[in-house]
Amino acid sequence: MAATRELGPCLVARLTPFRDADLILSLLSAAHGRVDAIARGARSSRRRFGGAMRLFCEVNAAVQGGRGSLPVLSQADVQRVWLQDEVGYDQLCFASYLTELALVASQPDHADADLYDWLSGWLTITQLGVSGHVRSLRLAAEVTFLHVMGLFPDVRSCHSCGRETSAGAAWPDPTEGLLCGDCAGDAGPVIAPDMLLALAVLISQPEPAIELARSLPVQTLRPVEDRVARLLARVLPSTLRSSEALRTAVRDDLPV
Ligand SMILES: [Zn+2]
Repeated sequence: MAATRELGPCLVARLTPFRDADLILSLLSAAHGRVDAIARGARSSRRRFGGAMRLFCEVNAAVQGGRGSLPVLSQADVQRVWLQDEVGYDQLCFASYLTELALVASQPDHADADLYDWLSGWLTITQLGVSGHVRSLRLAAEVTFLHVMGLFPDVRSCHSCGRETSAGAAWPDPTEGLLCGDCAGDAGPVIAPDMLLALAVLISQPEPAIELARSLPVQTLRPVEDRVARLLARVLPSTLRSSEALRTAVRDDLPV
């Protein structure tokens, strides 16, 4: 019998039908990175793995085998479910986007506890409700995601001269840092001091600062959104399938 490998807590990030009766689970494990495993019989018997065959839940998982082929899921005990069946469509879009971001950033056999904590923290925010705040929450999630990936620039000091950016900053090149007024010349647009402060607080918190994430300063949302979108486009392998649905959710969301 193949050896069992305990994965510990895992987030169920994707479910893909496989053969007639099976599912392939893409799991995000804090200790093992991305693990794809076959759940045999998961589609023919609902009792086989209990409530674990759903997205946006955390399971305690174990797999068997897997050398040269996909491992087989041998255990998946549900520890936590973030989104129940009666969630809003905007919550579903948001959670799908978060999960896909984490999935493309994760690697097999590469422990990434920060990425795991980022996703579980943001699923908790999603569970609390996103209506009226989807646009601000999307940006906050993207900013903190880039920070976890080590790709978000220092917003407190000028990339060129090192001076504090407390009076506002320009961000002409998304892959480089921010520039103070003196170094920016006529490079715009300018990101206002209150937005810089909000970004600095967001990325300095181990847990997402939920009230701040829900209400980022609207005046300079768009230039930051633009830079963040370009930065994401540089680091993601392709356009995320869930991003279009989330764009629609942002468009239809009524600010409160
Ligand atoms: Zn400067």
